[in-house]
Amino acid sequence: MKNDFIIPLNGLPVGKADYAWHAGKEFFGSFGDSEILDADVDVDVHVEKSGDGLGVDCKIKGRLTVPCDRCLEPLDLPVDKTWILNVKFGEEPDEGEEIELDGDDEKETVYFPSGSARIDLSQVVYDYTVLSLPAKRVHPDGQCNPEVMRFLTEDPGVDTEPAEDGKPFDALKGLFGEDKGE
Ligand SMILES: [Zn+2]
Repeated sequence: MKNDFIIPLNGLPVGKADYAWHAGKEFFGSFGDSEILDADVDVDVHVEKSGDGLGVDCKIKGRLTVPCDRCLEPLDLPVDKTWILNVKFGEEPDEGEEIELDGDDEKETVYFPSGSARIDLSQVVYDYTVLSLPAKRVHPDGQCNPEVMRFLTEDPGVDTEPAEDGKPFDALKGLFGEDKGE
């Protein structure tokens, strides 16, 4: 399985073609993105000629690891997204990329120069994967690194675990053992 995110246009079958790629840590690192600590994303692409362009169904599914916004420990986030690329050849009208909603799928038209021998989808895959991450990236409540959370919430030097009955020294008894319980 080649991991190059490239659809060769010369010799593309008249009908359709399928590609399966894998985007790992190196892939995201190659874009200079230090937010992605680790990645395991499968990319499935289905290409179909449509008129003078191509219809490209893209599907990404897997996992990205990013720093938690709250405790900075690694946080695994699922990635599951599909979208449709409309590939056209020739001059871009103006700004080029337009994203329009089409049901649940996003549909985007991208332009490649006429006579292109191949289409490189790596930038598109990168953009969609990163954009699919939620804006707020935190562990579920209670699952942040407890050490870090204690550091963040505790007043320095104050014991945050009060004795159950309010007698401060009761909590220490266990440390010295041999409490015969009068
Ligand atoms: Zn966290």
